[in-house]
This record gives sequence, structure tokens and C-alpha cells, in this order.
Amino acid sequence: MGLVERDLKVIWHPYTQMQTAAAPIPIVRGQGALLFDENGKTYIDAVSSWWVNIHGHSHPYIAAKVADQLTKLEHVIFAGFTHNGAVELAERLLNILPNNQAKAFYSDNGSTAVEVAIKMCLQYWHNKGLPRTKILAFKNAYHGDTFGAMAVSGRSAFTNVFESLLFDVVFIDLPNKRNIADLKSQISSLKSNLACFILEPLLQGSAGMLMYEAKYLDELIAHCKHENILTIADEVLTGFGRTGKPFACDHLHQQPDVMCFSKALTGGTMALGLTTCTLDVYNAFLSDDKLKTLFHGHSFTANPIACAAALASLDLFMLPETNANIQRIANKHTNFGLTIKGHGKLKHVRQLGTIIALEWETGVGTSYFSDLRDKLYNYFLDAGIILRPLGNVLYILPPYCITDNQLDYIYSKIEEALTLF
Ligand SMILES: *Cc1c(COP(=O)(O)O)cnc(C)c1O
Repeated sequence: MGLVERDLKVIWHPYTQMQTAAAPIPIVRGQGALLFDENGKTYIDAVSSWWVNIHGHSHPYIAAKVADQLTKLEHVIFAGFTHNGAVELAERLLNILPNNQAKAFYSDNGSTAVEVAIKMCLQYWHNKGLPRTKILAFKNAYHGDTFGAMAVSGRSAFTNVFESLLFDVVFIDLPNKRNIADLKSQISSLKSNLACFILEPLLQGSAGMLMYEAKYLDELIAHCKHENILTIADEVLTGFGRTGKPFACDHLHQQPDVMCFSKALTGGTMALGLTTCTLDVYNAFLSDDKLKTLFHGHSFTANPIACAAALASLDLFMLPETNANIQRIANKHTNFGLTIKGHGKLKHVRQLGTIIALEWETGVGTSYFSDLRDKLYNYFLDAGIILRPLGNVLYILPPYCITDNQLDYIYSKIEEALTLF
């Protein structure tokens, strides 16, 4: 039996209607921006395998560091024990994060990093004897698929079934010049019961690569500080160079109280989540009263292999070549954007750093489930390119090692698609 048949017998895939979905493509190897299937067909991984891979697949440097770690310590309980990788990673990351970030709490994916952040903020107020129960978030937000992360995400087809079980969240529009004053007064009117404001800085990925301006986010964060509301920046997608700077918060003057990381944290090699916070947040949990403890942890918290992968990825991330690649991709995207802007089939073209998004004109309104999405997805797969449109939004979010030739090929196929669909 071939791998596909065996898969279909035993596997239930994520985000997949198993009755109608095409059979999965068996991948046997990855190198650089390329993935190779069982039959030797190659694919350019233009979505970085769900936004996680930044240095390319099976990077030999990361592989060597992980292999070395495997011979020393594969895992150890992280309550009551520690290890070098977890400490060194926290030290090095806190060094390059906004300078108010003081403590690092590990978990094992983006959703759990968000769960930890929410619990930190709610319990912060509880521990101070000033309980607050409401959370503020942006409409169309995406913060993950576990229940707390779903609750602070925009309500959609993905959350409908669970709606009545999700805790109440106040959703506001993305900020702009016209609504910023109104948003601030909405926040002020809720302030006494608002524990925190959770946001994806500058970029709402899952919503369709929606982008908004740093200066208005700065104003909102400053206003939250003024009103004594904690802010959480979910950098699970934007962290580690995606937006053209190391972190999206590097585009801001204000600093959030809590930050969440995953995805590119390990270069896309291992599952690892990280929530960082200020000393003020951390100090609210220090007490002789054991009930003020943050009672949260996962079996694989701070897994040493994941930390080794993250440290190796960070070594590569800090190389000047990596930043040069990020700027190279951003410049190429900008030029491509200029050549297709105003195309009759496109409603909007937008870019932030290494991400370019093309919003297709659909005529029938926009839907994640439109067949345009499937047509585009299949068209690019046939051409050996993995692009997974979010509804009518086609975007490129490549590993930083993608070559100019590979990018040019993707651009040319997109131009061809514009004549076909
Ligand atoms: C992907 C994502 C998450 C969830 O991360 P998982 O590791 O998939 O649980 C949370 N927030 C943002 C902004 C994301 O893009």
C-alpha cells in the first residue's frame, strides 16, 4: 500500500473536510525553499509551511545543533529543574525584545503562548485584589484554536459551533485616522473591567493578511497604558523578521506588557511557545500565598530539543545575510507589487516586509470557501508552488532563503493566473 492510501486509512488532517479534500501529497524531503514529493516532483514552499519556516527546510546548521542536543539531554521536567538551552534562549531573546520584557514563560505552540498570556493578565488583576473579567481584541483577530485563544479571536465559520461556550470579549475595529478617537473613547468607557487588550501587531494574518499602521497602534497602546489596561502583542506570526524588522513591535514606540511567540521561534523545526512579560506582571504573582501562583504548564514546556533548535535558528537569524535576504525579498515584493497594482482583477495589493498579499476581485463577495480559492490553490500546486489563499487573498510568505529565481517564477505564475481566473 502506498503512503497516501495508508494515510487515508488512519489520519484525520487539520482544517480539512476529509470527505471532499484531495488526497494529501506525500513529502519525503525538504531543502532550502523546496519540498520534494514521493514521485520527485518539487514544490516551492511559498507559505513557509504554515508560516513557521524562515531559514529553509532541513537546514544543516539547525540539524547539527539538534542532533548534538539529542545526545546530551532530550527532555527534563521544567518545574523544579532547568537546563542550559532554556536559560540561554530566554537570555538572548530578552536581549533583542523590547526592553521592558523581563521574564520568559515556555509552552509548546502559538495557541498555548496566547493562553498563558491571557491567564497572566486575568490573574494579574485577581492577585492584586482588583479582579477584571473583560478582554479587548480586534475584530477578525486570530490567536489560535484552543478555547481561550478562540474566544479572543474574531467570530467566524471556524468558531461558530463553539460560540456559546466562548467567554465574552469586546471586539473593536482596526485603528485608522478616522476612527482612532472613537476607539480610544470606547476603551475608556470599558476601562474599569478591562483586564487586557490582545492584538496582532500590524498584521492580521489569518484574517487575510490585513495590515494597519504602526502609528495608530502606538496610540492605542499608549491609551491603554494611560487607562491602566495591560496589552498583549501576539507576535506568533510577525516575530523573527517577517515584517522587515526583527519583531513587529520594533515598528512601534510603545511597548506591550506581554508578548507571544511560536512559529518561526525554532526556525520551523520544533514546536515551541514562549510568552514574555514585564517585571510588573511577573511581580504580581510573587507572594507567600501559594494561590497567587501561575498554575500553568505543559509536559513539554521548554523542551531542550526545541530550545536547541530555537538557539540555532537565532544564530542564523542574527547573521547579516539573513537581514540582507529579508530586505531583498521585501524589495522584490515591492517591485512586483508596482507591476500588478491597478490590475483589473485585483481589489487590493498590500505588503509588509516579506509578505505580499493580493486581494482578488470576486464579484460575489469574499468568502474563505469560494471556489476561486480552490482553483488558485490547485493551479499553483500544478505549477510546483505551495500557495494557500485565504479565501480570495493570495499571499506569498516565503522562507528567507528563497532565491530571486524562485521568487521570479512565483511572480510570473501569479501574472499568468491573473489572465486565467
Ligand atoms: C498561528 C497563530 C497562532 C496559533 O499558533 P499555533 O502554533 O498554530 O497554535 C496564534 N496567533 C497568531 C497570530 C498566529 O498566526
